[in-house]
Amino acid sequence: MIVIIMGPPGAGKGTQAKILAEKFNLLHLSTGEILRNEIDNGSDLGLKAQRFMDRGNLVPDHLVLEMIEKIIISNLDMGFIFDGFPRTVPQSEGLDSLLDRLKLKINYVLNISLDKNILVKRLVERAKSSGRADDSEEVIIKRQDVYEELTKPLIDYYRHEVTQINGDGSIEEVSKRILSQINR
Ligand code: ADP
Repeated sequence: MIVIIMGPPGAGKGTQAKILAEKFNLLHLSTGEILRNEIDNGSDLGLKAQRFMDRGNLVPDHLVLEMIEKIIISNLDMGFIFDGFPRTVPQSEGLDSLLDRLKLKINYVLNISLDKNILVKRLVERAKSSGRADDSEEVIIKRQDVYEELTKPLIDYYRHEVTQINGDGSIEEVSKRILSQINR
């Protein structure tokens, strides 16, 4: 099974992706987390990615696509949940062509939506404990703008397969909404 979980920063994608990964035994691919690990390890990719991430900008598509392609190809026996990827139309096109080549298909595209004021509040709250370099209020707002401009258009890209999930509520409530849409 291949699942894409989309939504603006702060919508709870990561939390819900973890729950789904465990329940359905999927490899949870959070591009944000993978990139942060690359930075911590001081890898070549990490060095390239850091200046984009610290400012709330997206890492260039080709770097993210190469990274994801490697992981998929070395885990072909697994199902996947993509969290924070694809994040631009070119990334979606790149993923489509890779999955085509591998004769794989996306089963679910979930879009978690939430009011922008709640999102910023949640992220400012999270920033107090996250220790993430991109969690200052200024960068949080920048990430929302980048989302609106580059990632939101993916809802239209996936219009034939997207399932809308209301992200307002507790972790358990949102998780129940998602599970009620997934049958396997
Ligand atoms: P958020 O909660 O802000 O969505 P993420 O952990 O998903 O946080 O992403 C943090 C940062 O990592 C992004 O602002 C961006 O710089 C980089 N990043 C993560 N995924 C991608 C991607 N698919 N394409 C480009 N940049 C990405």
